[in-house]
Amino acid sequence: MKTAFLQDRAQQGHPSAFILHPLNAIETTVEFLKSMRGEMRLNEPMSRHTSWRAGGSADRAYLPADLDDLAVCLRALPPHEPVLMVGLGSNLLVRDGGLRGTVILTHWALRELALGSAIADGAEIHAQAGVPGPKVARFAALNGLKGAEFLAGIPGTVGGALAMNAGCYGGETWEIVARVQTIDRAGEIRNRSRDDYAIGYRSVRLKAEGERRKAEGAGHESRVLASSTPLRGTGHPEEWFISATFRLSNGPGAESRAKITELLKRRIATQPLHQPNAGSVFRNPPGDYAARLIEACGLKGRAIGGARISAKHANFIVNEGGARAADIEALILLAERSVLEKFGVALQREVRIVGEA
Ligand SMILES: Cc1cc2nc3c(=O)[nH]c(=O)nc-3n(C[C@H](O)[C@H](O)[C@H](O)COP(=O)(O)OP(=O)(O)OC[C@H]3O[C@@H](n4cnc5c(N)ncnc54)[C@H](O)[C@@H]3O)c2cc1C
Repeated sequence: MKTAFLQDRAQQGHPSAFILHPLNAIETTVEFLKSMRGEMRLNEPMSRHTSWRAGGSADRAYLPADLDDLAVCLRALPPHEPVLMVGLGSNLLVRDGGLRGTVILTHWALRELALGSAIADGAEIHAQAGVPGPKVARFAALNGLKGAEFLAGIPGTVGGALAMNAGCYGGETWEIVARVQTIDRAGEIRNRSRDDYAIGYRSVRLKAEGERRKAEGAGHESRVLASSTPLRGTGHPEEWFISATFRLSNGPGAESRAKITELLKRRIATQPLHQPNAGSVFRNPPGDYAARLIEACGLKGRAIGGARISAKHANFIVNEGGARAADIEALILLAERSVLEKFGVALQREVRIVGEA
């Protein structure tokens, strides 16, 4: 289904098309829709796009044709329309009442992956946001570059890995990032360096303009246009990752491939990968493990509806079939409450919960 479907609706005055432009500027809407080459889906079940295979529908989901088309889409959406960028949905719970606004599925289009310039003792790899992390890991190994092996075990996209600072087995995404490109609501593309971000354990935040200036020092040419980076009510800048340039060192490809195989074996042995899940639900508190705390509360194997705290790994919640997002969220709340009561530790969520109950 291409945008023709929506154009027809817009011409017929259908409310689902109007909602793209609530001012009822129907000619404008039709013009925008004509210029969009991707696919707009209405009431798209997010269970199709999240690794938990649960949750409600997005009002609209856009599958861009390419980067230019993504820019056209962002410009076409009304300014108040909520936008959620989604990669492979491997860290996302969409509540059963669904998502108001437009979801953009990057995995659909932003798929370029290429070897970049040679650097001293290595080379750069350029990957668009929709490329799966495991593909980057294998591509690096095949090109005799080391340092990206850990991405093989993280089943999300480059965009998701950047947003989460995803990592495992001692590696973290932003450790290997040289620079990124972002896009904003106006479709404007920016080059940003690692220094533009405050990076922590499973957290990444665009520094405020003042912070960035200070970090850059006087006289440094500013690459960032922070004043044009609007902030939504949530405090998150409306700027999304569209690509990353990874800087990797030369290394024997065979060793990298062996490391990847070893890492995947360890995952199969310790994680419930045969059932839908979203990886670790909670971040590990300093000096401890969320899984240990949850298990010590006697919650390993506890089920609510179709969801269960995995008997294999207590920081994983699995969908045993037909779980509602509410079942999963109830287990999350139960784990949080129990760990706080027993240990006085407030677990921090690693998974992101969005949408309406
Ligand atoms: C079996 C399993 C194992 C896992 N193991 C690990 C692990 O070892 N380490 C780890 O860190 N994580 C792990 N995860 C969690 C998850 O894979 C990572 O967080 C991953 O980086 C998420 O990528 P994604 O594309 O699926 O993001 P999504 O789930 O689609 O999105 C996650 C967040 O990132 C935002 N986002 C997505 N794309 C963009 C973009 N282009 N620009 C800006 N924001 C964006 C979304 O809006 C959302 O807030 C695991 C998950 C599973 C299912």
